[in-house]
Amino acid sequence: MRTKRCNCKVSQYIPRGYGYKEIRMNCGSTGVNGQQLLCDKCRDKAYEEYPQGWKDVPGDVCEHGNYVGNSGGPDYLCGECEDSAPEFSGN
Ligand SMILES: [Zn+2]
Ligand SMILES: [Zn+2]
Repeated sequence: MRTKRCNCKVSQYIPRGYGYKEIRMNCGSTGVNGQQLLCDKCRDKAYEEYPQGWKDVPGDVCEHGNYVGNSGGPDYLCGECEDSAPEFSGN
């Protein structure tokens, strides 16, 4: 899995008192909600690669829209992916 990094800072707004507090973090780092922060450019790129979208990290949702774990190594297996995966056949 490629790790895409750029030097952009991504703004996040977290509720603070009666307003919001802006936090700026590096693109690619994990945000306050557990989602990977991506700048607009990286998000566009990720959407090209994962048009199905994702939950926390690009690549953690398969093409069927099922959560399959983080992009470093799927924790879950989508049944539909399993069915469509090329199977090793003995003959
Ligand atoms: Zn970026
Ligand atoms: Zn799937």
